[in-house]
Amino acid sequence: MAEFSCYICNKKVITGEKFTFTKSGAVHYDCFIHVRRKEVPEEKQAVLRQLAILLDVQLTYLLQVLQLKQSGIELEAIFAAYKNIEKECGETTRQISSL
Ligand SMILES: [Zn+2]
Repeated sequence: MAEFSCYICNKKVITGEKFTFTKSGAVHYDCFIHVRRKEVPEEKQAVLRQLAILLDVQLTYLLQVLQLKQSGIELEAIFAAYKNIEKECGETTRQISSL
């Protein structure tokens, strides 16, 4: 896996950690949501919570598939779905960024 640093905490993203990409670059899931909770107006906090849960599920899914792949397990159908979930992660991240 390529090495990225989180633009919020400046630490390297370690394999197995949840992270996503925004316009500003790579960011840990936890750092991203923590900052957005402070920035997003009160009336949009409920939507932020829901999107944060969705992104968490999507990123957890991707990490699990990656781990299975490293185990050498042949699950072509699941690996084929990976790219779609990756795209969905990007979309969820965009929505969280624009709240
Ligand atoms: Zn971070």
